[in-house]
Amino acid sequence: MKKVIPTLVLGAMISLNANSAPKDFDYHVDNFADIEVLRYEVPGFDDLSLRQKKMVYYLSQAAHMGRDIIWDQHGKYNLQLRQLLEEIYVNYNGDKTSDEFKAFETYLKQVWFGNGIHHHYSTEKFVPKFSQEFFVAQVNALPQSKLPLCDGQTKQEMLNTLVPVIFDPTVMAKGVNQDSSQDVVATSANNLYEGVTQAEVEAYFANLKDPNDKTPISYGLNTKIVKKDGKIVEESYHLNGLYGDAIAEIIYWLTIAKDVAENDAQRDYITTLIEYYTTGDLRKFDEYSIAWVKDTESEVDFVNGFIESYGDPLGMTGAWESYVNFKNVPASKRTQLIGENAQWFEDRSPVDPRFRKPVVKGVSAKVITAATLAGDAFPATAIGINLPNANWIRAAHGSKSVTIENITEAYAMASKGNGFNEEFVIDDKTRKLLDEYLYITDMLHTDLHECLGHGSGQLLPGVDPDAMKEHGSTLEETRADLYALYYLADPKLIELGILDNPEAYKAEYYKFMMNGLMTQLNRIELGKDVEEAHMRDRQLIAKWILEHGKKGKVVELVKRKGKTYLKINNYEKMRELVGQLLAEVQRIKSEGDYEACCKLVNDYAVKIDQKLHAEILQRYSTLDIPPYRGFVNPQYIPTYDEKGNIIDIKIDYSEGYTDQMLRLSRDYSPLTK
Ligand code: ZN
Repeated sequence: MKKVIPTLVLGAMISLNANSAPKDFDYHVDNFADIEVLRYEVPGFDDLSLRQKKMVYYLSQAAHMGRDIIWDQHGKYNLQLRQLLEEIYVNYNGDKTSDEFKAFETYLKQVWFGNGIHHHYSTEKFVPKFSQEFFVAQVNALPQSKLPLCDGQTKQEMLNTLVPVIFDPTVMAKGVNQDSSQDVVATSANNLYEGVTQAEVEAYFANLKDPNDKTPISYGLNTKIVKKDGKIVEESYHLNGLYGDAIAEIIYWLTIAKDVAENDAQRDYITTLIEYYTTGDLRKFDEYSIAWVKDTESEVDFVNGFIESYGDPLGMTGAWESYVNFKNVPASKRTQLIGENAQWFEDRSPVDPRFRKPVVKGVSAKVITAATLAGDAFPATAIGINLPNANWIRAAHGSKSVTIENITEAYAMASKGNGFNEEFVIDDKTRKLLDEYLYITDMLHTDLHECLGHGSGQLLPGVDPDAMKEHGSTLEETRADLYALYYLADPKLIELGILDNPEAYKAEYYKFMMNGLMTQLNRIELGKDVEEAHMRDRQLIAKWILEHGKKGKVVELVKRKGKTYLKINNYEKMRELVGQLLAEVQRIKSEGDYEACCKLVNDYAVKIDQKLHAEILQRYSTLDIPPYRGFVNPQYIPTYDEKGNIIDIKIDYSEGYTDQMLRLSRDYSPLTK
């Protein structure tokens, strides 16, 4: 439940750190539909030792080998469909400038980006702009040997299945349905459940769970739930189970990586991870997670597994993902300082003292440089992560919190001069404030959210950690954001030397409010509600502050020449409101007050003012800024001596989006071979 996603397309940025990319680095790769694809730089890779470079390389191979898994988790026809679309694309002999072909190409790029037929963010099914006739004609033009038929399937049977999957808007309409008035299991198109109802799944797990277990297993994390002979059965993801062919490849590369591990501890937990992949035993995964969280020494680090559960409407099954990264040592001094002072912050948090954590455990925080993104973290990725997710492990052993600086930097650099600030920020003075301090305060906000926010607070004895049910993620993200906002304005950051100006926090306050009230609406279709947990969190905070700050005119929305702008009149008072809301949100969580949570979410987080929404969409449309962005990975290319030993690994940034996607499908698709 702990990832930070980029908040908005940031405006012009300055004060990038000393690791800034060279000026000629081209961040822009591709543009289609509502997506822009960027590339990110990996500063510092050349300075790693050969052993570390090998580690990055082997772990990157292990990362790519899981790609098919996320495709299949997202929907049972995705892999077959991807193969078919790619065959059509590379074998097409017709007019490549025709509208039909261009629409087909856009659709394929969208499907690549979503790792399946649903949008990565809204989880709505993509709408093809090419005709069914065109598609069927292209399938018929393919030689039989290029058709990705399942065992015993005829071409016609394949078309009968896939045509509605692509063209019928009522078939598999939504990847993840969160509408709690419906059966969210039966109405979600993803492939985590099959032939079962929400009630059956809930009853099944309620029966398994032991409420008195102090170290509860993360039930369902690595399983698909199906019905066999009328009974609920879990099919586990492991070497001899579901996704075994992909997991075998992951294990192969992890085994090689193990030999170049930086220390014994790292070698040991890679061994444990391999045992978990081999058996599917979730106790092994806990064991691995605990050992992994304790390793703060290794510079090269990685995530590889079934991790985040946003893609499951019931929040249990982990989406397969991988991050390969290494520590950004100079920038990590900042997060280290924050982590070392975690108790200081907790003791002064503006919540009821009963809800504070008496001893904040092991907040290990670092800034990392991403080297490879994969699975659910690719092409769209988070800018910060905080793992492991199991609450009892976090409480007993702490968590690892990271800020991914080179990704944040790529976003900022790619946004330079896009006109966003000129359009949405109220005046020159505020724009100057943002130019000067938004990059650092935005990064700090992520640090504080991850290092302190999620790790803060405690539940009263006997309160169920899942008491907020479907609003669990929203409330948790709200809490972490409020904690971060509150301390961003604290003089302690000046005292620690992290910020050099007591006014700096105002840049993030302005952006956060503007985003929560206005600019994030760009990501939502007119007429729809806010759904995604982080977006709900931001709107909840911004609207609550707007309403509670009305009386004293702390914050207001004002009109200038017919356009709406955010005006903050009193930043100090706004911070007080942040503290008040934090106290209430923490109370709700600590006491398990589900009713109050529902009220807060329904009053502030979900509904959108239609007039304002239309205005924002219109203003955005004049800027031509794509609402979503993601990345291609660099390629790591080994050079060998005559004996076949790797003597160096070079990094190559030249690959385009289509080339990369086709290469991954060709070289890393163990489930479609
Ligand atoms: Zn978070």
